[in-house]
Amino acid sequence: MCLFCKIVNKELPSNIVAENDDFLAFHDINPHAPVHILAIPKKHTESFHTADADTLKGISEFAKEIAVKMGMDQAGYRIITNIGDDGGQEVKHLHLHILGGGKLRFGHFTDADAANKF
Ligand code: 5GP
Ligand code: ZN
Repeated sequence: MCLFCKIVNKELPSNIVAENDDFLAFHDINPHAPVHILAIPKKHTESFHTADADTLKGISEFAKEIAVKMGMDQAGYRIITNIGDDGGQEVKHLHLHILGGGKLRFGHFTDADAANKF
């Protein structure tokens, strides 16, 4: 069973922000912003790329609820989902990073060299 499935099953502890029948949100253990929450489907799917349309629709609505709950909807926030090895995905269970609580830098997009590629 993957790490996030264990968090869903409460086999591993997490700092839960919100939960419903299908989705769970908890604080990232290594935050990269004043607010850094992970939103995941309870049903295992590897990534954004493998998720079905219902899951993507549901997690999108759920993420918006988290942003409101954390008071970030007016000031703004960022959603990131890493996909696969080149995308930097370490945990192979779909998760949205919901980042905010302060002005975010644009640093996540500068680490790959795009020169001579496209
Ligand atoms: P990825 O690199 O797969 O997009 O993101 C995985 C995220 O999961 C990382 O930001 C990492 O800090 C977080 N993470 C890894 N293990 C745990 C854990 O046991 N608990 C929590 N709350 N977050 C975790
Ligand atoms: Zn899983």
